[in-house]
Amino acid sequence: MDIFMELKHFTRNEAWGDPDKVNGALLMVMDALRTHLDQGIVIHNAYAQSGHSPKSYHYKGDAVDFHVTELPFAEAVTKVLAFLKDFGLEAHVGLGIYPDWHTPGFHLDLRGSKTRWVRVAGGVPLWGRVSPGVHCYQSCSLGDLMSYMPHDPKIDVLFYLMSITLLVLMLHLFLLNIG
Ligand SMILES: [Zn+2]
Repeated sequence: MDIFMELKHFTRNEAWGDPDKVNGALLMVMDALRTHLDQGIVIHNAYAQSGHSPKSYHYKGDAVDFHVTELPFAEAVTKVLAFLKDFGLEAHVGLGIYPDWHTPGFHLDLRGSKTRWVRVAGGVPLWGRVSPGVHCYQSCSLGDLMSYMPHDPKIDVLFYLMSITLLVLMLHLFLLNIG
C-alpha cells in the first residue's frame, strides 16, 4: 500500500528527501495538520542523510521542516500548538520554532516525548536583542515562544528613525547651550 494514496494534501513530489523513508505516521500527522490549519504548508525537507545535528530525527525519517503560508508566524505557532493539543500529540513530539528562517517555520519530529525550543540564528527578532542560539529548550511556555516572534520590519525602521531624530535634537540642544 502506498501511504501517499491515503493523504488528502501531500504527494510524493514534495521535498521529503526520500518519500519512501519518511515515517507514515508523520505524513498522516502533517496531512491532518494541513486540514486543521486550512492553509498551505510548504515542506522544506524530511528524510535526510546529512546536514542536521548528529542525532537528528531527520536521519530516521521521523522529522519534517516546513512553513505555513499566508498566516502571520505568531498565529501559525499558536495554531500548530493547538493542533498538537487537540490531536493528543502534545506529549509525544518535538517542535522547534525557527522565527528567522527566510520564511519562518517549524521542525516537527516524532521523538515520543515533549520538547519545545526556539532556534535563533541571526538575532533578528526584538531589534537583535535575542542572542543567536537555542532558547528555552524543553521548557518553552507559550509566552516564551511568543517573545521570540519576529516583528514587523516597518516598525524597526520607524524605531531607528525616531532614535536618530531624538539624537539629532539632543545634539542640537547641546550645541545651542554651549554656544
Ligand atoms: Zn528539522
